[in-house]
Amino acid sequence: MAVKNVYFFGNGKAEGDAAMKNTLGGKGANLAEMTNLGIPVPPGFTISTDVCAAFYENGKKYPAGVDKQVLDVLTRLEKTMGKKLGDPNDPLLVSVRSGAPVSMPGMMETILNLGMNDRSVKGLAAKTGNHRFAWDAYRRFIQMYGDVVMGVPHEEFEGAISDMKKARGVRLDTDLRAGDLERLVDEYKRIVKESARKEFPQAPMDQLWGAINAVFGSWMGDKAIKYREIENIKGVKGTAVNVQAMVFGNFGDDSGTGVCFSRDPSTGKNEFYGEYLMNAQGEDVVAGIRTPEKIASLAKENKAIYNQLVGIKNKLEKHFRDMQDMEFTVQQGKLYILQTRNGKRTGTAAVKCAVDMVAEKLITKEMAVLRVSPALLDQLLHPMIDVNAQKAAMALTKGLNASPGAACGRIVFTAHEAEAWHERGEKVLLVRKDTSPEDIGGMVVSQGILTSTGGMTSHAAVVARGMGTPCIAGAHEVVVQGKTMSIGGRTFNEGDWITIDGSIGEVYEGQLPLVTPEVSKDMSTFLRWCDEIRAASTRGNLKGFEVWTNADQPDDAKRAFQFGAQGVGLCRTEHMFFDKEKLTHFRAMIVAETEAERKEALKKILPLQQKDFFGIFKAMEGKPVVVRLLDPPLHEFVPHTPEETAELAQHLNVSVDSLKTKIDKLHEQNPMLGHRGCRLAVTYPEIYDMQVEAIALAAAECVKQKIPVRPEIMIPIVITARELKLLRPNAEAILKRVFAAEGVKVDVKIGTMIEVPRAAIRSGHIAKYADFFSFGTNDLTQMTFAFSRDDVASFLPVYLKKVVLDVDPFKSIDEEGVGFLIENATQQGRAVNPKLSVGICGEHGGDPATIDFCYRAGLSYVSCSPFRVPVARLAAAQAVLNNPPARKAAAKPKVPAAKKAAGKKAADKKPAVKKAAAKKAVAKKPKKKAAVKKIAVKRFAEKRPAVKKTIAKKTVVKKAAAKKPVAVKTKAKKADKKVRTSGSAKKPAVKKAKK
Ligand code: PEP
Ligand code: MG
Repeated sequence: MAVKNVYFFGNGKAEGDAAMKNTLGGKGANLAEMTNLGIPVPPGFTISTDVCAAFYENGKKYPAGVDKQVLDVLTRLEKTMGKKLGDPNDPLLVSVRSGAPVSMPGMMETILNLGMNDRSVKGLAAKTGNHRFAWDAYRRFIQMYGDVVMGVPHEEFEGAISDMKKARGVRLDTDLRAGDLERLVDEYKRIVKESARKEFPQAPMDQLWGAINAVFGSWMGDKAIKYREIENIKGVKGTAVNVQAMVFGNFGDDSGTGVCFSRDPSTGKNEFYGEYLMNAQGEDVVAGIRTPEKIASLAKENKAIYNQLVGIKNKLEKHFRDMQDMEFTVQQGKLYILQTRNGKRTGTAAVKCAVDMVAEKLITKEMAVLRVSPALLDQLLHPMIDVNAQKAAMALTKGLNASPGAACGRIVFTAHEAEAWHERGEKVLLVRKDTSPEDIGGMVVSQGILTSTGGMTSHAAVVARGMGTPCIAGAHEVVVQGKTMSIGGRTFNEGDWITIDGSIGEVYEGQLPLVTPEVSKDMSTFLRWCDEIRAASTRGNLKGFEVWTNADQPDDAKRAFQFGAQGVGLCRTEHMFFDKEKLTHFRAMIVAETEAERKEALKKILPLQQKDFFGIFKAMEGKPVVVRLLDPPLHEFVPHTPEETAELAQHLNVSVDSLKTKIDKLHEQNPMLGHRGCRLAVTYPEIYDMQVEAIALAAAECVKQKIPVRPEIMIPIVITARELKLLRPNAEAILKRVFAAEGVKVDVKIGTMIEVPRAAIRSGHIAKYADFFSFGTNDLTQMTFAFSRDDVASFLPVYLKKVVLDVDPFKSIDEEGVGFLIENATQQGRAVNPKLSVGICGEHGGDPATIDFCYRAGLSYVSCSPFRVPVARLAAAQAVLNNPPARKAAAKPKVPAAKKAAGKKAADKKPAVKKAAAKKAVAKKPKKKAAVKKIAVKRFAEKRPAVKKTIAKKTVVKKAAAKKPVAVKTKAKKADKKVRTSGSAKKPAVKKAKK
């Protein structure tokens, strides 16, 4: 039997339905579904996406039999309509439109009024008695077809109609009469012949196939390719082509056309929303010649049609259980629905619709949670550029969307200038090649940060995310030279205004208006449902799936706690040293040459650290707080300028020259792989000893003040179990001593970061000395890929463009490589220590796709920066729902939560993408499992030195377009930020010097 490629809909019955989106495209599937529901849809047929795929696979040839199938359904259509295509007396006219499984608005072609020719135009004029209408329909058809199918420049037609209007002394197209339009048709045909070097086709079947070719051709048009690239749409086979009987809204005052939503797509309110124009075609609405009326006015203008429309929107919303976005046309008093799809909506509307629909019993809480994409929820937590202003603006360039939200400010090029301008009351936007720890002061006071280099885990990106400051990193077209920045041919100077959108990575000239979305009660209700879903989840013995935060300061912890964080998964202690006093003592410690000198400096640091730890413990109200002992290369903290060197020399009472010699000694060629992490403690145990003592004293103080406390100590950059074997007893001894002296009892877990591939491979051994693992996926990605996290922007965009990699591995976990290490380490670790708590604290912890992976990999929690906590709560709940235990056992496809949620919204962003990804993953999964097993067997066969002593008895701890702008970003946020001093990451000064 021939493969079915063409599907008819009409006469109340369709050959397809809504479930066939992959085959019929979104539009075709819903036209079929509406037909089956008895909704008045102009009849037609859909040529499937398989034909599109085959067309490109076979050198632009259609599969055998498609032409015959098209002919058959066309005959059915003609019978249904009682008209024939090209009939000189009463012609059938059709539209030919694209319709992919993924919504790609405006990216592909549409042709209307197909079937018009020199003979049928007369038939249409006679039949309708409306000559103007007929000639207008013909000239519109030539214009569209000539442009889309025959490649005649659009401007040539525009020039001709404009000349005609001038000659007639009229302003609007609608002022032209039938005779004018008839002459215009002649002129258009002449233009076509001259430009395309052939006659405008008169045979309807030639027209039809020309249009079908053009629509399939537009799938591979530059616009469509670019759109798929930007939207990361992959694995979709192609577009379908919908051929449908034309209905006309410009037949007189009893005709019209419009677009409507079953609820308000901006606010989410359950109010019928939309616009229409009487006596008009869709194009007229788009052209903006006339101002459309609000849909409510239709009730006055044509009560019957309005009521019918309301009935249909209710029926469709109930049927699809989602807000519908519909196009309709009224032809001589008869209503037709041309399209329905799940409506795109703002973040505010998404949450409101979801919560309301649960109350209306239209959907379950689980469906509601799956309905809202994490990206939409994220909109509610940051200022955004006003939707209309953003639409009208042209982006200067695009970089990595390193920290979400929009900001505008006056350009400054140094942190020092940022602070000085800020002092004068200016709003500044810091533009730099990259940032490093000493820029922190300027970063804190900046509205936003733009760097030309650096990846998603570069210093600028990590620090900005932690502060909730919008940031674009790696915008490589931005060239910073002294006090100017150039982008393309444009040059900007210090003080010029720019606006950045950190959510999408775009940079704009000038001051665009910003809006801050309202955070509603609905949002708390919605997030509470997310939490319930996470808490109730089970994976084997594992109960729940938590969301923790990365916070280095009490204020950050407090904010994260308010956002719903269930613990601190990473407190980077080196981020605590950027306040002047601490930094001086810290620098003294670094340049100390003897143990005694070092201990002296550490003594001064201890109370300062203790105070910060106490603040964080208190803010978290008894939730676990993982304090990471010092990690970065020491030289990062040494003075970098002559002034700083002189200042420190004075503090230490040594000469500048001798201090310089000491600093030079700390120089490393490759600091990322140098003297950092627990290597510092192996060489200088007193550093970690001081930090553990500060943690213990802070915890003891909490106990004395009756503040519940659950500290955990994390040892970074571990490569072998022997490091932990060496360092853990030190920490335990100090904890014991301090708690005994203070007369308190506190259980403190001691664990490690897994951020070096060797540690992931040796995890079974390391787990013998660790109460928990936390995957430091920034370093783990860096070291697995051998991609410097700070320099990746110079080549990664090309890797992504050439599809050498699908995604930025610093943004979304690389499941095949880094993910493999994580899964393996988790399994090996738990095999040795079944109680091992396992989480992730790299920047990936806030990425929805990674969160889905972490759930599948059996992690207990994800930890992310405070502003990402609400989004992570949603993504984690979606991960739970998308990976039910039974399905998981049956080789559950690895579909990222975020993508799945979007997929539920039929016409929403990227449904098909996921499905393709899912398929790929299913195919890959068994292979991966087998590989894990093999490695495991080999590893356990290895002979390692026996662990002589069992581990000292573990002290186990009980452990928000949007169109509702309310206010622009206020000073409050900035004031808030002032108190922070966070901000280090591994920015190798050596490298900087080399550059
Ligand atoms: C990591 O490497 O993932 C991590 C969290 O540590 P840092 O970013 O501080 O190196
Ligand atoms: Mg790290």
